[in-house]
Amino acid sequence: MAKEKLTGVKGMNDLLPDQSGLWEWAESSVAEVFRQYGYRAIRTPILEPTALFVRGIGEVTDIVEKEMYTFTDALNGEQLTLRPENTAAVVRSVIEHNLLYDGPKRLWYVGPMFRHERPQRGRYRQFHQFGIEALGMPGPDIDAEQLIMIHRLWQSLGLDGDRAPRLELNSLGTLAERQAHRKALIEHFQTHASILDADAQRRLLTNPLRILDSKNPAMQPVIQSAPLLTDFLGDASRTHLAAVIKILEQHGVGYTVNSRLVRGLDYYNLTVFEWITDRLGAQGTVCGGGRYDSLIEQMGGASAPACGFAIGVERLIALLQEVAAPELPSVLDVYVVHWGEASVGAAMQLAEQCRGQGLRVQMHCGEASLKSQMKKADQSGAECAVLMGEDERAQGVVTVKPLRAEGGMVQQDRVPIGDAAAVISGLLKCKIKKGS
Ligand code: ATP
Ligand code: MG
Repeated sequence: MAKEKLTGVKGMNDLLPDQSGLWEWAESSVAEVFRQYGYRAIRTPILEPTALFVRGIGEVTDIVEKEMYTFTDALNGEQLTLRPENTAAVVRSVIEHNLLYDGPKRLWYVGPMFRHERPQRGRYRQFHQFGIEALGMPGPDIDAEQLIMIHRLWQSLGLDGDRAPRLELNSLGTLAERQAHRKALIEHFQTHASILDADAQRRLLTNPLRILDSKNPAMQPVIQSAPLLTDFLGDASRTHLAAVIKILEQHGVGYTVNSRLVRGLDYYNLTVFEWITDRLGAQGTVCGGGRYDSLIEQMGGASAPACGFAIGVERLIALLQEVAAPELPSVLDVYVVHWGEASVGAAMQLAEQCRGQGLRVQMHCGEASLKSQMKKADQSGAECAVLMGEDERAQGVVTVKPLRAEGGMVQQDRVPIGDAAAVISGLLKCKIKKGS
């Protein structure tokens, strides 16, 4: 009987080798930009107590209401959740380890997040985020610096000009301002109660702001005519937003103020933003973030302001593939081809010597004809093949054969075994210099 075929969990993707080079390149480019602004990495567990997210993200949000992978640990009865986002977990860690004891902290992370959503292009059940949390700084300078950093990040990834996502910005004001707005919103939606869908009906009294985030086309007119939070902002909130904008303008970072922009999590106040691209269809928000000045206190820490964002890695990679896929360096420098039983040991030694020079080397393993090894060498993407057979060994040499037409290595050459590693490394370095 045929065994049942096992497949991965729906909405959770494998990252295969053909793709992983681009991911690694993006990860290291992004990490380098974060480091340029003084951010240091933090890694927190993928599992956290469920209560952390309920308290941190807010009970009446899409994530907590219907997207969390929550389960009881069968071994000890603990209520656990696979993290749907990482801000709450980072704040938990910062409080637990008292990281703010000696002043503000700039932190970054990358890793998988889990949301039980309907899988579609750009929306998965396991996806990845690059994220930033700047803790202990009230802004507006740090808010603006983060936006400038993201702008630099797009450029460093080749997403410049009209390839770059565009910035939408808003202010969610203070709690008191949001409450006054909330009252007006409830009145507005109550007068149009018949148009509201079930989700909106339910949210009317718990979280009417979230109705503005609804994607239901039938509700767009009543959303469009709803009172704007902007009209309820006081002087301090207006001044904060204006100061962020002034710095953006000084740095030539384009933006539009979208007074209808609200975010899907409860913890935001003052500055909120999204970076959106038109090139990925409906799932065009590549990055979202803002200030969350009350979260740390709400989670049990000493009150401290904070500001952060997350970038969806899958959407970023899709955008790179769409408009700016970089030419990645080849994965291998050298493929070692050998024949005759006695050559294996010497070939392996040579491979090690090349690795000692910092080269990336694949040694052919297993029986195969010279012809088939050369074919594999070619397919491997290596810059050159090093050939070692009985003849070569007897004469104390190897044959170095360039495999790529372009670049600095032009002709096949015989080189003394002892020099081979240094010679190849020299030739490839020369090629890299020429190419750059
Ligand atoms: P959306 O409105 O698209 O559901 P969101 O507001 O829920 O996004 P955030 O919680 O702000 O998203 O997460 C930040 C970023 O993470 C998003 O802008 C997006 O790029 C990415 N992201 C969020 N959910 C998913 C998902 N299910 N699959 C892939 N990427 C996601
Ligand atoms: Mg969502």
